[in-house]
Amino acid sequence: MSLSPNLVLRRLYSNVSTKVCAQKYVLTKYFQGEPKKSDFKIVEEDLHELKDGEILTEAEYLSVDPYMRAYMIGYKLPTDMIGGQVAKVIDSKDKNIPIGTYVCGAFGWRTHTIINGESALNKSLDLPITVLPDLNPYPVSLALGILGMPGNTAYFGLKEICQPKEGETIVITGAAGAVGSHVGQIGKILGCRVIGFAGTDEKCEYLEKELNFDRAFNYKKCNIRAALKDGAPNRVDCYFDNVGGEISSTILSQMNQYGRIAVCGSISSYNDTAPPKALIVQPALVFKELKMEGFIVNRWTDRWQEGIDMNLKWLKEGKLNYREKVYHGFENMVDALVGILRGENTGKAVVKIK
Ligand code: NDP
Repeated sequence: MSLSPNLVLRRLYSNVSTKVCAQKYVLTKYFQGEPKKSDFKIVEEDLHELKDGEILTEAEYLSVDPYMRAYMIGYKLPTDMIGGQVAKVIDSKDKNIPIGTYVCGAFGWRTHTIINGESALNKSLDLPITVLPDLNPYPVSLALGILGMPGNTAYFGLKEICQPKEGETIVITGAAGAVGSHVGQIGKILGCRVIGFAGTDEKCEYLEKELNFDRAFNYKKCNIRAALKDGAPNRVDCYFDNVGGEISSTILSQMNQYGRIAVCGSISSYNDTAPPKALIVQPALVFKELKMEGFIVNRWTDRWQEGIDMNLKWLKEGKLNYREKVYHGFENMVDALVGILRGENTGKAVVKIK
């Protein structure tokens, strides 16, 4: 990965020994319903002095994502809270990663992190840690959104699982969120008819007026079947499912033969304490010979940069638009996580730390 020349001109690495006290969130109770502040402890952690080959980063933006609500049940407590962040290198004993560089990685909900530079750039890690190119005039927080994990989820999930063809109809749930709003825009770039479902009239207006969706419906107010008849008169070829549940069963029943369904998530059930029930989907799958496939974006770790490069190209060409919901302060991480689960965000939600 190449670094921008003005970064290289800065101090290459530091001989100054640094001792920093980091703050981090530790999950001490499994979530029941909505996450609560009392499920966490904020803990201080003394970091060791930098050794050769290591870098010290300071978080500028932390990400809040729905998977955080769904995944923590798989961890033994107490455990450090997981999550992506964009951080600035504030000290470095790695000559390839100078002070001032921005990196993006899954360091968790914490303010400062020490990483071994070489392993940081090792693509065999779960999700690659990336050194950000110069994103000016765009904010570095985009590395947590359209130029990061959600952007790649949209790019690979739509292209590889749904494989839409020009002129086909794509339906997206969770359509105004980080992934959904991006999927719809790629659908338009590929020449498809794009229909979105989102939770407020304002979000639907944004999708139609600013993101060029053909139609958007407020799923809290509309009859889903009637909305599909109206918005997708040629029925549905591709369904990008962010929410699961009853709405997804209804959409599956309105698909064309050989339709493809990318199952990205099921946020409608993440806060539920008992497993929800939805209409049976097998008849639609059988009679319309549908292909339904779940995926996790890590599947394309080896092609990570391809997604980021393509999204950056579309952004620069004016073909991709974005919105961010910015929360403020390390102490407000839980409010931000609850906020996205309640639908406060349009586009990607991030927390500005510095
Ligand atoms: P979003 O930015 O879309 O934020 C979550 C949104 O979900 C809210 O804004 C809200 O919007 C909507 N929502 C909340 N509750 C419900 C509900 N009961 N029914 C329908 N919609 C609801 O999040 P992301 O774009 O980051 O993630 C979208 C989905 O993709 C999630 O399911 C997530 O788990 C999944 N995901 C999967 C990945 C993978 O690798 N498979 C990677 C990244 C994300 P509204 O106002 O419209 O209700």
